Amino acid sequence: MGGTEEKYVAEAFATNWIAPLGPHVNGFEEDLCRFTGSGHAATLSSGTAALHLGLILLGVECGDYVICQSMTFSASANPIRYQGAIPVFVDSELDTWNMCPVQLEVAIVACINGGTDSNGKKLDPRKPKAIIPVHLYGMPAKMKEIMAVAAKYDIPVLEDAAEALGSTLNGVACGAFGQLAALSFNGNKIITTSGGGALLGNNADLILKARFLATQARDNAPHYQHSHIGYNYRMSNVLAGIGRGQMEVLERRVAQRRANFVRYRKFFDELKADGFNVHLQEEPVGAFSNRWLSCILINPPQNRGLTCETVRMALEAENIEARPLWKPMHKQPVFEKFPYFGESSSEQLFTDGLCLPSGSNLLDADFDRIFKVLRSVFRTT
Ligand SMILES: *Cc1c(COP(=O)(O)O)cnc(C)c1O
Repeated sequence: MGGTEEKYVAEAFATNWIAPLGPHVNGFEEDLCRFTGSGHAATLSSGTAALHLGLILLGVECGDYVICQSMTFSASANPIRYQGAIPVFVDSELDTWNMCPVQLEVAIVACINGGTDSNGKKLDPRKPKAIIPVHLYGMPAKMKEIMAVAAKYDIPVLEDAAEALGSTLNGVACGAFGQLAALSFNGNKIITTSGGGALLGNNADLILKARFLATQARDNAPHYQHSHIGYNYRMSNVLAGIGRGQMEVLERRVAQRRANFVRYRKFFDELKADGFNVHLQEEPVGAFSNRWLSCILINPPQNRGLTCETVRMALEAENIEARPLWKPMHKQPVFEKFPYFGESSSEQLFTDGLCLPSGSNLLDADFDRIFKVLRSVFRTT
């Protein structure tokens, strides 16, 4: 927490705006629009809820194809299944680790023509209803290329910007590229409302409809009248108060996380003299990452046989948590039967990758502990 969150929460209590909705919800939505440059925002109970409503608003129904980045957290793909739709997974490219625009187009063409996926699986001829690219660990995906492919085939983009609030590409905020975008304020994200999310978009009618569906889809009548299936997905005024306080420290959080990355880069640069070649997730020209997590790749042949699992275990032995990168969805038991387009880039990233400790509150003493372990693993390799 940054310090001012309690002031907003106290205000919610003092004015008795506890029940869903209230002035903090409106204020937080305005803050998000101002920060991202997006026209409209609906704050919701989670990023997953935002992705689910986004798909509903784009007309995704049972049996439809939805193209989704394979290398991501499962919450990018689960809402496709909530709708009974079919995820079509696309590989990452190695510059940003996000959706490969070339494989995206291959997947779209195969869906439209009823071609086969990369494993020889036959598709029914159907145009995909939506595309879900993700900005992994805060790194902007190749949105210029992805939006161009999407425009060529007239397919809407639902951006999963859950990890990327505060990231920009050529000055445009992540979350402001797609027709719709999802943000998350879960406890582990760059800012948090303990749990929450938002749906962003420039189309006022779509965001109005998101708010309507998120509050049980009540028609305009004195009694309870419903002509749509509704959801209870709205963020409460108390949590939106936390969000408003968090917006005041967002830029500081981004600076802290970027400083973490700079420290790691310096450490791994110095190891180059000893014949190691640890690869970091680098920003392509024009990209600015919030560095939500600092991630590395350790390719064993380029690192005297050292694996990222050896590094992870050494850290764990000192009670320091590091985690593998997201396991690709097309390799997950629950999703492996669905179509996949690509080669093995996301699998390679998963095999070689590690998320290092990346909290906004890491102290010099924490880094001393982390580097002490890392130094000893590399020295003994
Ligand atoms: C966290 C996350 C989500 C889901 O957000 P919740 O608020 O936890 O529901 C979706 N996609 C990605 C890539 C995420 O990291």
